[in-house]
Amino acid sequence: MSGVGKGVTTASICAILKARGLRVTAVKIDPYVNVDPGTMNPVEHGEVFVTADGQESDQDLGNYERFLDTDLGRANYMTTGSVYLSVIQRERAMGYAGKTVEVVPHIPLEVISRITAAADAANADVTMIEVGGTVGEYQNILFLEACRMMRLERPRDVAVILVSYLPVPGTLGEMKTKPTQYACRSLNSVGLQPDMIICRSTHLLDESRKKKLSANCNVSSEDVVSAPDAATIYNVPLRLHAERVGDRLCGKLGIRAPRERMREWNHLIERLGRSTQRPVKIGIVGKYFSTGDFTLSDAYLSVIEAVKHAAWSIGRRPEIAWLNSEAYERSPALMRKELASLDGVIIPGGFGARGIEGKIGAIRFAREKNIPFLGICYGLQLAVIEYARHVLGHERAHTTEVAPKTPHPIIHLMNEQEERMKNSDYGGTMRLGDYPCVLAPRSVAQRLYGGVALIRERHRHRFEVNPAYSDELERSGLRISGRSPDGSLAEMIELPKHPFFIASQFHPEFTSRPFRPNPLFLGFVRAAAKRH
Ligand code: GLN
Repeated sequence: MSGVGKGVTTASICAILKARGLRVTAVKIDPYVNVDPGTMNPVEHGEVFVTADGQESDQDLGNYERFLDTDLGRANYMTTGSVYLSVIQRERAMGYAGKTVEVVPHIPLEVISRITAAADAANADVTMIEVGGTVGEYQNILFLEACRMMRLERPRDVAVILVSYLPVPGTLGEMKTKPTQYACRSLNSVGLQPDMIICRSTHLLDESRKKKLSANCNVSSEDVVSAPDAATIYNVPLRLHAERVGDRLCGKLGIRAPRERMREWNHLIERLGRSTQRPVKIGIVGKYFSTGDFTLSDAYLSVIEAVKHAAWSIGRRPEIAWLNSEAYERSPALMRKELASLDGVIIPGGFGARGIEGKIGAIRFAREKNIPFLGICYGLQLAVIEYARHVLGHERAHTTEVAPKTPHPIIHLMNEQEERMKNSDYGGTMRLGDYPCVLAPRSVAQRLYGGVALIRERHRHRFEVNPAYSDELERSGLRISGRSPDGSLAEMIELPKHPFFIASQFHPEFTSRPFRPNPLFLGFVRAAAKRH
């Protein structure tokens, strides 16, 4: 089922194999028909993770990058929609030379050729492939067929891992293996036998259940791996290491590589353990939290991880509060109360009108009350709107995304976007991926990035600060501390007199790694810790 931990498991195995000195890459396959998740509502999909080369992809790619400490890209991601799209385009271009193009084998063959391309691009010894969805459902069947075909071709080079969930129903208090047995049968029915079963659960798997699964699923009991809930996702590589997943997998794939040394990971977990005493309280003001009666923070996954990386690196326990900007519109008193109790406020990326006045209110409060503030993408745009309204006195300043007729379009559509919007050309057409940003000399931004003149960070937006207002903003004390090299786009802003007030048009969360927090997050969390 989704959320069981396939992504973290995949990423953790990547980490273990990398710690053996192997070259490892990973590919995520999503079964939906959207060509990429860029057009999906975040409540529906969770975060859209953007790679350096501008692919809008699944949050799992973020986990792979964080665990492998490597940049991935277009080659590492596919969906049903993207696979069909290229097969159909090739067919239209006579690429199949008059043959009948069929779902089988042409779709699985396209999948295999993409996997091969990803492996080649990374010159990888091992490529981990994560097939999204649930075994037994219709949606991912062609991807499993691709796995079967690959395995048939190179039986010694392909291993299949089933990640399953073992419930412990509260009424019973006993761990049940039956769903896993059935999952295994479902996998068998598409011609695949798992080499290993990773057993996710709230609890450790005991010996008797290992034996039961081994006997019923036709897997050696050493390949039935216990993976109980962990304190953090970063504990999982150590758990799988202790279960000898690396040894077993290398054995199956005929890879000779020395046993992994997990020094780096051990250090990280030690540091994390030392960070339990003193908290730092960070609020994230957003709107993509709710699914029915449940609160889901998935839409802001990388932001949350980036806060954690930064907090742990300075020995603080991150305490993250989800704050609902729509509630702030109804009750400014609630906003003041919640924000005043925090050490720092983040306004993350977003789209559209819903909840933005609440966010603008929160930014004003952070600015006026000297609460450390980090704005990301929409967070930068709203901070500029707030400043224009309350400091420059342009009361109706707005973004044309929300108010196309505003007398003060302080945030407006980027030039190249006009035509695309006219043609409803939405898919994959934002300003995406890595772009260079020139930092202003002696700015806070430049100090945080270690004094360098040029950085690269990842973007995902259509709108920008309207350059017609740049001078007015700067004269009144809002510094544009990062710009595109040609000077045309404002990439970062800051308030030099505030304890910490910075926003970026790019998304610094995408480049934060557990071993290397992003400098902006680090500066922000440091300022928040100081306030605490
Ligand atoms: N909606 C804004 C834009 O398109 C911000 C996007 C974002 O926050 N990722 O420019």
